[in-house]
Amino acid sequence: MFSDELKKYDWDETTRQIMSMTAADVERALQADRLTDRDFMALVSPAAVPYIEQMARKSQRLTEQRFGKTMSIFIPMYITNSCTNSCVYCGFNCHNKFSRVILTMDQIKAECEAIKKLGPFENLLIVTGENPVKAGTDYLEQALRVCRPYFSNLTIEVMPLSAEDYERLTHSGLNGVICFQETYNRANYKKYHPAGMKSNFEWRCDGFDRMGMAGVHKIGMGVLIGLEDWRTDVTMMARHLAYLRKNYWRTKYSVNFPRMRPSESGFQPNVVMTDKELAQLTFAFRIFDPDVDISYSTREEHAFRNNMATLGVTTMSAGSKVDPGGYATFTDSLEQFAISDDTSPEKVVADLKALGREPVWKDWDKVFD
Ligand code: SF4
Repeated sequence: MFSDELKKYDWDETTRQIMSMTAADVERALQADRLTDRDFMALVSPAAVPYIEQMARKSQRLTEQRFGKTMSIFIPMYITNSCTNSCVYCGFNCHNKFSRVILTMDQIKAECEAIKKLGPFENLLIVTGENPVKAGTDYLEQALRVCRPYFSNLTIEVMPLSAEDYERLTHSGLNGVICFQETYNRANYKKYHPAGMKSNFEWRCDGFDRMGMAGVHKIGMGVLIGLEDWRTDVTMMARHLAYLRKNYWRTKYSVNFPRMRPSESGFQPNVVMTDKELAQLTFAFRIFDPDVDISYSTREEHAFRNNMATLGVTTMSAGSKVDPGGYATFTDSLEQFAISDDTSPEKVVADLKALGREPVWKDWDKVFD
């Protein structure tokens, strides 16, 4: 399990190594065919900043070699904001007093139909808070079955499950699972996740092994930028990705670097990542792992998403609502966070085409299930 593997790496020592990288380390990493984790550290270090143009060119070339000039499009559907956890940075925190919504199957069906009116979406991301009693595996299984006739590819972003439950959901149309570790800083993890199931660092961290064991087709990873030193956190994530690739080599992987957005929690980020730093990180990940899918959500501004669309990003959301019932508008419920890009799916697609990217709505078919 990766939580054991992670014990090999000291957080402070990793930070020290990153900050001591030199121009020579960056140049060596840019010339390497296969990158070590030390090379990755060089590319996310401050020493790589003067090399960002070179990194962008290499990232673009590798992306076009592996993915062509394409951009996969997905849309999230929040089906509940009920949550028993108390993550200090999140609007759905259980201490935040507002009426919680758990969509019924009829409401989920109405959401599917409303999304289909927005565009030819085939990749759906089903998102929940974490309430295993009221919205557990049985509820998710029913939701997947309701959504299956409308979409070719179903991914969930929910509480970490057992390997048996992941495996069970693959029989109801589940293709992918996204889970954000939020931070790999074990010592500080509990400060941000003080109670509930999410306070268990190991259960969350080892969820990725359980997905791999269950044969989930695609696993999505991420750290929340704004909690701890981002360079150290993403280095731990790169190590985690390399570990998963080695152990679950049939699985496909995606990475995401969500920057913290304002929410009802009122939490102020400890760390702010600039657009230039996010670009550097995106290039570093592409050069480190040319096959990994790199996903940007509507947390990012439209202009920035367009700037990055040709340089390494391979998946984007469009038209997103982050409140349950947000598409069919039969509830007036709280959003998880404030989105940055509310551009319509038509405009997102038109802009991608103008940039020479082909939007891909469908890259999976039910017959592969
Ligand atoms: S981040 Fe997820 S688990 Fe934490 S409070 Fe928000 S919805 Fe719940």
